[in-house]
Amino acid sequence: MEVAPTKTHITLLTSPGMGHLIPVLELGQCFAVHHGFLVTIFVVTTDASTAQQLPHYSSYRDLLNIVFLSPVGVSDLVTDSMAILSQLVLIMRHAMPILRAEIAELKPRPLALVVDLFGTEAFEIADDFGMLKYVFNTTNAWFLALTLYYPHHDETSKHDHVYLHKPLDIPGCAPLEYEGTLDLNSRPDDRVLQEDYAKMGLDMAKADGILVNSWECLEPRTLKALRDPNLLGRFSSVPVHPVGPLIRPVNPVENFVSRSKVLDWLDLQPARSVLYVSFGSGGTLSADQLTELAWGLEVSQQRFVWVVRPPIESSSFGSYFRQDKRTKDGTPDYLPDGFVSRTREVGLVVEMWAPQTEILAHESVGAFLSHGGWNSILESVVNEVPMICWPLYAEQGMNAAMLSDHLGMATRSREVGPGGVVEREVIKEMIRRAMEKDQEPAKFVRAKVLELKRSAEAALAKGGSSRGSLEQVAKECETGLRETARGA
Ligand code: UDP
Repeated sequence: MEVAPTKTHITLLTSPGMGHLIPVLELGQCFAVHHGFLVTIFVVTTDASTAQQLPHYSSYRDLLNIVFLSPVGVSDLVTDSMAILSQLVLIMRHAMPILRAEIAELKPRPLALVVDLFGTEAFEIADDFGMLKYVFNTTNAWFLALTLYYPHHDETSKHDHVYLHKPLDIPGCAPLEYEGTLDLNSRPDDRVLQEDYAKMGLDMAKADGILVNSWECLEPRTLKALRDPNLLGRFSSVPVHPVGPLIRPVNPVENFVSRSKVLDWLDLQPARSVLYVSFGSGGTLSADQLTELAWGLEVSQQRFVWVVRPPIESSSFGSYFRQDKRTKDGTPDYLPDGFVSRTREVGLVVEMWAPQTEILAHESVGAFLSHGGWNSILESVVNEVPMICWPLYAEQGMNAAMLSDHLGMATRSREVGPGGVVEREVIKEMIRRAMEKDQEPAKFVRAKVLELKRSAEAALAKGGSSRGSLEQVAKECETGLRETARGA
């Protein structure tokens, strides 16, 4: 009698936040669909995270075994004054014992553990259970290069970057401007952040492989430097596998059954006439900045969909760990008096959360004003939507530089950043420049986005570079299975 071959079982671990959960689910789905793997995804949650309440992962349930770990209590653990990176590192550390217990129970025994950037402390668990260990860097290769090199940067160059605003060199890669290192430069005395970040780079160098949500043609120079033993390969010899762009595809349920009112509204607007404004899953603005943005939108006289959140003074990622706060009648009281009624004909305000992928795929959307989270960027590329970057925290400053200065698929204003308040006239000009589609530079940017979209499609197609990278990792996982079977 023939015995059915055991399916290769692998596990993935995601830290809190939709920006981490979505690409990890997509990666898990690729292993399940393209390689027939059994995939268990562990989702670290907190008692304040909204991820579990959101419907986006429902379509993955048929293919993946999704396990929400019992929530980590954040109120006694993290404070608003801590950098987002340090908060996530602490939360993940607290989730480790429960992850260990869950992995011990899994059958068949998983052969590999793939963690996101914040999950490298789980490598110890992977070692104890004899699993291969991978990092999935859910952002770009340039950020990966910085992370791997950061522990080896000398103190003088770090000092000169933070205090003299000199660019930070990364061997073989584009240097990083002062504005690019948002959290590090705005918290020069935060030793915990610096140590956490350096540890992340050192831990990643112990992986069996690093997967990146990018593709060969998008970042050839950086990927070459990462693999060159005379450049970044001196600090990490871990193979780097670009597997992207992995993004959540348009949800057919959202489109055809319980269609959101945003999509109905977009149906009524002319092609490419609407600016979509959103600061990701956690981004927030101060009250003054929110007011200026509202006025900027109004005086620009462009159509818009704006995902709004209550203002927060002390933090640019204020919604990351907070419960969803919506007003009862759907009219936010923190926008300028009369804003919603004055702009009713041209704009739509959506509180807290909107179906972003579906919005970006809609033909009425002409540009995206974004905080520049990496998922948002990839979603823009795939849907051919030019961007305006308004970086707020984490690696978003690097992303803005990459998009506008290196790739030309976005515009940004030097006046936009987490520091002072950007005034309405600056915002108006920025929006107009991006939306005037018959003018240069909007035409130039659109041509660039189209070019990137085509190269992304080629990378993901059968025989493309990203599919090839994923196949290589899948083969390693299967080889792990054969070796284990031999040793048993
Ligand atoms: N997102 C969404 N609706 C929203 C805000 C965000 O669907 O109103 C999704 C977005 O499509 C993306 C993710 O949440 O997939 C946010 O990831 P990103 O890397 O852009 O930013 P982050 O939230 O991690 O800063």
